[in-house]
Amino acid sequence: MRDISIIPLGAHPRDVLLIELKHGIERVLPVECTIHEIPLDIETAFDSSRRQYHSTLILAHLLQQTDLTAGRLLGITPFDLFVPVLTFVFGQAQVNNRTAVFSTFRLHNEFYGLPQSQEILAMRTLKEAVHELGHTYGLRHCQGRPCVMNSSTYVEDIDLKPPDFCLPCRTHLQSVL
Ligand SMILES: [Zn+2]
Ligand SMILES: [Zn+2]
Repeated sequence: MRDISIIPLGAHPRDVLLIELKHGIERVLPVECTIHEIPLDIETAFDSSRRQYHSTLILAHLLQQTDLTAGRLLGITPFDLFVPVLTFVFGQAQVNNRTAVFSTFRLHNEFYGLPQSQEILAMRTLKEAVHELGHTYGLRHCQGRPCVMNSSTYVEDIDLKPPDFCLPCRTHLQSVL
């Protein structure tokens, strides 16, 4: 329950980002993270008309990983993700279950025509990862308080929220972890 496997999907994101992510998650959550470079083919989740990957299908692929039968599986991909009802998603997770996936595609400053910033990218990556993991521990979107579980429609929403949980969300986490 306390183990998290970080799984790079597709072209590998920069290693420094993954290592920073591992340490960042371990600072926010009482868990141990390992980076697993498993050969997972996500091409069947690619939608050629949308030029995006269907995140729900990626979650299903992750769940079939028989090598990793314990703990949470957190996919991180540089490719853009979607679910059919939305133009894109930053990430998706199974609430109260093992798998989550998120994309760095829209977390880069360059995506918005702004100068590249590794620091900003690392912070957004951490917030997105912790948010999706929060869902796997049963947390839903949190409103009215600054919290990493605040929902994010735009990257500005990610920038506004803290990388950590508010007190009620943290109390829930402590009861399940
Ligand atoms: Zn969410
Ligand atoms: Zn909260």
